[in-house]
Amino acid sequence: MKNILVTGGAGFIGSHLVRLLVNKYPNYSIINMDVLTYAGNLANLKDIENKENYTFVKCDICDFESVKNIFKKYKIDNVIHLAAESHVDRSIKDPFSFAQTNVMGTLSLLQTAKLYWNENYENKLFYHVSTDEVYGSLGKEGFFTETTAYDPHSPYSASKASSDHFVRAFQDTYNLPTLISNCSNNYGSYQFPEKLIPLFINNIKNNKPLPVYGKGENVRDWLFVNDHARAIDVIFHSGKLGETYNIGGFNEWKNIDLIKVIIKTVDKYLGRPEGTSEKLITFVTDRAGHDLRYAIDSTKLKDELGWEPSLQFEEGIDKTVKWYLENEDWLQNVTSRDYSKYYVEMYNTK
Ligand code: NAD
Repeated sequence: MKNILVTGGAGFIGSHLVRLLVNKYPNYSIINMDVLTYAGNLANLKDIENKENYTFVKCDICDFESVKNIFKKYKIDNVIHLAAESHVDRSIKDPFSFAQTNVMGTLSLLQTAKLYWNENYENKLFYHVSTDEVYGSLGKEGFFTETTAYDPHSPYSASKASSDHFVRAFQDTYNLPTLISNCSNNYGSYQFPEKLIPLFINNIKNNKPLPVYGKGENVRDWLFVNDHARAIDVIFHSGKLGETYNIGGFNEWKNIDLIKVIIKTVDKYLGRPEGTSEKLITFVTDRAGHDLRYAIDSTKLKDELGWEPSLQFEEGIDKTVKWYLENEDWLQNVTSRDYSKYYVEMYNTK
């Protein structure tokens, strides 16, 4: 038996993780705590919402008093912390809310765990889910490893780096049992369509411009979201306390090449001749402070805990494109919120 508090479980990665845990571990009680920002969507969890071992609680991680009450009420003995402001472009416009949620929110959870567990740390764990963006940018060669020095460049990555430091500080200062994982870019179903892959699938479908930063030369390592959820499951159960694990797919793509794969796949499903939608590619001014290349070395996770990605990228993209094309209602529901306004403001295009 475990009472696991998953924060941010209504978001993209959180919903995949909650589904995995609820279905795989009927003996665990999974408490999904989420404040439901624009990125949190309970429709992501429709298929499991009536399961006995699942509870949703609407709560802001920054609300220290309410968080303490939730720990008490549900006798929380494990935390998997994903709640965050997660979009780099939004962090450039509004860094305060990123510091508030990602730093102060993490601190509020850490402090609650410390107080509530009261140094009785047997079978307790605080697992913090983080990003490879904390490591900064790579040149053409090399990989981020768990010992790469932090060098964040965007307000988003600075806030995540800070939250990682707080987690380590609680481990070192109070012996709070913690784990951290830093993962590369995720893709898959239920991702809010401000992020590159769902944004582009939707735009190609609707014959709208595909805004590509700079010359599309930036390189990212892409991982299928279900593989990230599997990795979190493995690390949560078998990771060594106090350790950090990098999670990645050894799957680097230049943005422009990735976009061409997406175009090819969407055109195939829409019955358009190959390459038809390439004319939609529109180069726009590069993102300020845009990191050139991220690449993760996840050898430690493979060697020590036996995790590997389960899917080839082309297969993952195919599944993902199919999902967005078949789930028109989900996309409509999400895009009809204030997302449209944001989209116009961000890219100055209709
Ligand atoms: P997301 O934006 O899709 O979801 C974030 C969730 O957190 C939403 O459900 C939102 O409502 C919730 N939330 C935000 N502020 C909150 C608050 N104050 N209190 C309670 N809930 C709040 O994000 P995601 O892409 O699923 O990312 C989840 C985590 O994984 C984040 O910590 C992110 O930094 C990390 N991560 C993401 C990626 C990626 O590619 N998406 C890669 C590596 C790490």
